Amino acid sequence: MKILTYSTNEEANTERNVDSIVLTDFCYVRDGSSPEKIPFYEGKDLHLYEAPICSYCLTTPTTRLLCCSRCHIAWYCDSRCQKAHYKMEHKSLCNDVAKDLKRVEDEARPLHNTPFGEDPEPQNIFETQVGYFGLVPETHSYLNARRYLVETYIHASFSTEIKDVWEKALFHALGLLRLDMNDPFDIQMIIPFILLHLNRDDDTYDFVCFWLKANTFDQESLEKILCRSQEGEWIYPRETSSRFDDVFEHNPALNDPDVHLAFLVAFLFLKVRLIATYDATCKSVDFALHETAHGPRILEVRDAVKDMLTGNMYGDIAIQRQQVERLADLIHRINPSMLPSYLNVRRILNQKRPRTQTRGDPSEIYDILNYSNSCFLRIPGAQNMLEERFGENPTFNAQIQYT
Ligand SMILES: [Zn+2]
Ligand SMILES: [Zn+2]
Repeated sequence: MKILTYSTNEEANTERNVDSIVLTDFCYVRDGSSPEKIPFYEGKDLHLYEAPICSYCLTTPTTRLLCCSRCHIAWYCDSRCQKAHYKMEHKSLCNDVAKDLKRVEDEARPLHNTPFGEDPEPQNIFETQVGYFGLVPETHSYLNARRYLVETYIHASFSTEIKDVWEKALFHALGLLRLDMNDPFDIQMIIPFILLHLNRDDDTYDFVCFWLKANTFDQESLEKILCRSQEGEWIYPRETSSRFDDVFEHNPALNDPDVHLAFLVAFLFLKVRLIATYDATCKSVDFALHETAHGPRILEVRDAVKDMLTGNMYGDIAIQRQQVERLADLIHRINPSMLPSYLNVRRILNQKRPRTQTRGDPSEIYDILNYSNSCFLRIPGAQNMLEERFGENPTFNAQIQYT
């Protein structure tokens, strides 16, 4: 989706687009360990560390953790743990983050005070060109540097699974999108998966809804939203419990032929999570009633107890299940490799990251799969759902067309 016109200079566009996709070829594949056996699932990815832990010995000491002063993405009990971890594996990531941060800082410096356009007076274009930043050719190396930083933080987030690190990735991703609504790096498709890793399902829902609608906003309303926003802030309205909404009813744009596949996958992701939570709650209630049941009198309150435990948010659960089916059908129609590939992610991810994406081709799903597979497969029932649809070892087109 393109909202604003980007540079008319073809060369600048090509150069930048190429640069934006020559990123790292990291694959984020997990061993498939899932919380299936955990008795009560609360709709959250349990692998996320809410608070930092020691990156070396994976414990939380009773004293305060020390943070690596170069990269701020690794924490330690003491200098012994730090030294051992640095030698063992941290060195390369630490260098990458430090290098990317410095590059962003260096590239940002001249942009704070530079004459721009027809105005001879120096200006801070971080304030004066919000939303249109990419129209200024001088900003391109800064935007590229920041895009690299986002990717490095995502890589670090996958390796640490610490909330603070995911939030750094989110901060910079949102910052990029706010500066340049034209979004040449397709940051829109990454943010939902960062939010899902952070267990922020309502925010995922609100974010995707906002961008599905953004196409229909006029320039003036978008400008208003942007001018009022602050760096690192949400630029879309947030609502509580929005993830329970009917995605099709609230988003007519889902039926647009060029709807972003990542948005559909993100919606599917959060609906599958929601159903897994409901099923886990029901299982717990049934278990508790079975243990203590004194005949039908207790069974009469079964549904009431379930409603109470689930906050009565689900309405008719059958409608949520229907949405899962409809989303899966739609995704499969757009790209028949997308869903089966979750059952054998390496067939896609072992290939080189494609530089461009073609609708319906495996190249379209590479990034989505990479950013979402570990977290998606950890949802209880997600793998079963896919296996019921496609079989345990489905055949699908995995041959990426490199253009
Ligand atoms: Zn330690
Ligand atoms: Zn470090």
